[in-house]
Amino acid sequence: MSGPDLVIRGGMVFDGTGAPARVADVAIQNGRIVAVGADLPAGREEIDASGLMVTPGWVDIHTHYDGQITWDSRMTPSSTLGATTVVAGNCGVGFAPVRKGDEDTLIRLMEGVEDIPGAALHEGLSWEWESFDEYMGAVEKLPHDIDVAVQLPHGALRVYVMGERGANREPATAEENARMRELTREAIQAGALGFSTTRTMVHRTADGDLTPTVGAARAEMEAIAQGLADAGSGVLQWVSDFQDMEGEFALIRDLTRIAGQPLSFSMVQADVIPDQWRELTRRLNEAVDDGLPIKAQVAGRPVGLMLGLQGSAHPFISRPSFEPLLDKPLADKVAIMRDPEFRARLIAEAPSKGHPFINSLAGAYHKMYAVENDHVDYEPDPSTSLGAKAKALGVHPDELIYDALIADEGRAFLFFPMHNYVEGNLDNVRAMLANPNTLSGLSDGGAHVGAICDVSLPTFMLTYWCRDRTRGPRFGLAETIRGQTKDTAEAVGLHDRGVLAPGYLADINVIDFERLRIKAPYMVYDLPTNARRLMQDAVGYVATIKSGEIIYREGQPTGALPGKLIRGRQAAPQALAAE
Ligand SMILES: [Zn+2]
Repeated sequence: MSGPDLVIRGGMVFDGTGAPARVADVAIQNGRIVAVGADLPAGREEIDASGLMVTPGWVDIHTHYDGQITWDSRMTPSSTLGATTVVAGNCGVGFAPVRKGDEDTLIRLMEGVEDIPGAALHEGLSWEWESFDEYMGAVEKLPHDIDVAVQLPHGALRVYVMGERGANREPATAEENARMRELTREAIQAGALGFSTTRTMVHRTADGDLTPTVGAARAEMEAIAQGLADAGSGVLQWVSDFQDMEGEFALIRDLTRIAGQPLSFSMVQADVIPDQWRELTRRLNEAVDDGLPIKAQVAGRPVGLMLGLQGSAHPFISRPSFEPLLDKPLADKVAIMRDPEFRARLIAEAPSKGHPFINSLAGAYHKMYAVENDHVDYEPDPSTSLGAKAKALGVHPDELIYDALIADEGRAFLFFPMHNYVEGNLDNVRAMLANPNTLSGLSDGGAHVGAICDVSLPTFMLTYWCRDRTRGPRFGLAETIRGQTKDTAEAVGLHDRGVLAPGYLADINVIDFERLRIKAPYMVYDLPTNARRLMQDAVGYVATIKSGEIIYREGQPTGALPGKLIRGRQAAPQALAAE
């Protein structure tokens, strides 16, 4: 019987271009869309999408699945939350190129910067590669549920070329710069989508040291940008504190000129420098006006810690009496914490020094919100913080926090909006998102697995920004969908996806928008060595389709693994390019 492989019939089609939705059928043949229109002929398989939304699959350009893509076929939680393409290798950390003997250095870097358990990485990574090309070969050997792409991480590159001197942040010699230039060209030519670096003091190795690339000299950065120019392709991804705003921004501008390729940097509103994002926005807009291909990656909600007994951070973790509990199973922790005497002692105790990060957040009671009813309020009213509630009740906030942590047999979490929440609302985030020079990013899928779970950001953009928000204006669906499909795909050179039109990859979500809802994160223990990671589910994804195959139905895997490693920039479909 002839006819297309699959027809998605009668859905409300948002085609990813920002055009208004229209009711249409979508026909798929050989992994690609062949027609979008009314009354298309019957397919060999059909999905009845009447009353449902049909969108391109999400293209998530900021993840850290560098390890997971080598040992796991499923890119969860991204793939169960509507992503059909994920880009790893961000923030300068990753696992290639690598020399024998340097494996541990790269693991400690990833463990420290991205909070991925080192033991799990040791167990999971096979290290059957040296060059970046060989690493991609190892990724390719495994079938995946969705497409994955990788970028060359500066940390690994620097350690590969300079050895211990690279790890110790010593300056590169002219020969070493030349070698980095050469290896960058090779990696891009082999199919890396770009190059990434971190220059922030916040990123630390598992030993607490600064990362290898912090303070890398201008000559080194220029050499790498020249490597991109030599390859004639590849994006630059950048994380910086921008403490030297003038110098860093001048460098960014120069590197995009030298590389002749686009650059994106991470932008959040930090509590200690609440107006920096305004200055960054001003400079960003100016650079774009000057014709430079620069964008800021922004998060659509607070970058939020999930504090809990199962996670890597909670307010009591630095109290001396908690130390004997650290390695105990959760049930034992909860049993001990239910003892009123222990409770009184822990609450009365001063935290021990040497945990500056935990101790700084432990006092920020105004930013702690209990997660209840399987739902995180990502724009919580400050009057509902545990600090505010304690004040109203006339008790110490630690008492409420303590009880909240042992709720649900110790599986409860507190939501702690770390960035983007200085004013207690998301109005600034809205301004960032509304700027055409920003990109939806920073989901950090695969990373911070013990403390942050922002991988549901693309789903949140729909549920919250297009439907549920009552504390201020919302966004339209068509533009929001474009912002995480066509826009993100094009930003990293993937012109073959993110749009529902003939010739494009059939990467598609069928969504019941009325039912679409993100559940609260929970902890699972399924990384290698049974290490923990935060997981998050949503309801309302009726089907997720990758290259024409249904990979998830209602969040459940079908077993299909059509995803591939993307090697390099992808051209737009011929038919449309000719228009
Ligand atoms: Zn990152």
